[in-house]
Amino acid sequence: MKIKNICCIGAGYVGGPTMAVIALKCPHINVTVVDANLEKIKAWNGPLNKLPVYEPGLAEIVGEVRNKNLNFSDNIKSSIENAEMIFMAVNTPTKTTGEGAGMASDLSYIESCAEDIAKYSKSDKIVVEKSTLPVRTAEKIKEILKSRNKDVHFEILSNPEFLAEGTAINDLFKSDRVLIGGDQTSTGKKAVQELVKIYTNWIPRDKIYTTNVWSSELSKLASNAMLAQRISSINTLSALCEKTGANVVEISKAVGMDHRIGPNFLNASVGFGGSCFQKDILNLVYLCRHYGLEEVAEFWHQVVKINDYQKERFSQKIIDTFKGNLINKKIAILGWAFKPNTKDSRETPSKYVAVKLLEEGAIIEVNDPMINLEQIKSDLRSYFQSKSIERVKIDSLLKNVTFLSFEKIHTRIFSSIAIITAWPDYESIDWKSLSLKTKIFDGCNVTNENKNIYSIGV
Ligand code: ADP
Repeated sequence: MKIKNICCIGAGYVGGPTMAVIALKCPHINVTVVDANLEKIKAWNGPLNKLPVYEPGLAEIVGEVRNKNLNFSDNIKSSIENAEMIFMAVNTPTKTTGEGAGMASDLSYIESCAEDIAKYSKSDKIVVEKSTLPVRTAEKIKEILKSRNKDVHFEILSNPEFLAEGTAINDLFKSDRVLIGGDQTSTGKKAVQELVKIYTNWIPRDKIYTTNVWSSELSKLASNAMLAQRISSINTLSALCEKTGANVVEISKAVGMDHRIGPNFLNASVGFGGSCFQKDILNLVYLCRHYGLEEVAEFWHQVVKINDYQKERFSQKIIDTFKGNLINKKIAILGWAFKPNTKDSRETPSKYVAVKLLEEGAIIEVNDPMINLEQIKSDLRSYFQSKSIERVKIDSLLKNVTFLSFEKIHTRIFSSIAIITAWPDYESIDWKSLSLKTKIFDGCNVTNENKNIYSIGV
């Protein structure tokens, strides 16, 4: 089978950038990205400065290959029909109801995607799991495909995406490794080689690691769990630093200088956010429990619990400074994206801090270079709704949320400023003069240790 046409189902944070790079690096392959969300497809076909995903360098690539060998389409049927290889890049959120609610992954999107593939396939297909999935999901996909379509041979590969939001394009260009898991059968091995061939258009062969399907699936959860664990580890130490006079910035540097540990993912913060870390760890915890590994489950669960503790600790610090009286206090929150250089606010720590302050009666003004007020309010509304807070109450809380433009950070008067996302824009702020008129809570150590400022772990 020669791969001439690729279809990717899911035009989100994973599917969009990954397919743009495959199209750029493989001009001989036609790549079509489809999505059930028509608005998203329209946006991918619209102005380059308004693509649904922001990543440095992405718009330039889309501009170069769009309508050449990269197409965004809502025609799922014909894209599946025409492709020899189909990537599944749909979302896998944490289940909110039923068995495993709050922990296990909701696989309904993956299942409906597999049903579409079974329904529309008329020739043999290589189906690639790109979404992060619990180990042994390939079995489920195989069951759906094989029971619904007996005329076509499907080979399932696992090829988890390790890109980090904010540096996705660079990560895709220079991946540390590309992992491809496949069945150890002769057709399985051939399918793995087809995908290897695609990646070798730009990734050195020694960085492509082929394994069995289950190792590949579990490696993604394991990588995210280990990364999140480092953040929670340094965050526990930030609390201890505050009690002992040690400085977490110095601790991070000292510890990270050990080449066995390395410096990355060792910055203390208000906690990790994003769609992956918490979801993947909870999924790992659920899997461990499923297999009766209670101690292992509890070890990983603690990483998420410490993350919640850190968000709570930071919010409480602000509340305690005002002796619990935040009613009508104006508080600026700097940063809504869960990390710099992305417009993704899923699970952002800013939301948890904002909720806590709003519930105490504060008036919140939020600045973010990428995220607008509509998104901020929608994030907060969804959160309050998930806690079954009644509509009237939600509306009245949201009246206390407005957008703060960057220019006004200096000129408006606040009771307090909480810095949560380390956007590069904030480096130019004159913290020294601001700290003379307001209480500053630096959750990401960007203010350079001014003694009038509370900096986490310092
Ligand atoms: P990720 O961060 O994993 O890329 P996103 O939520 O950004 O997740 O993107 C997943 C995309 O997959 C969404 O745009 C969603 O509309 C799309 N999607 C989910 N299920 C299906 C499906 N069955 N068919 C087509 N698109 C789907």
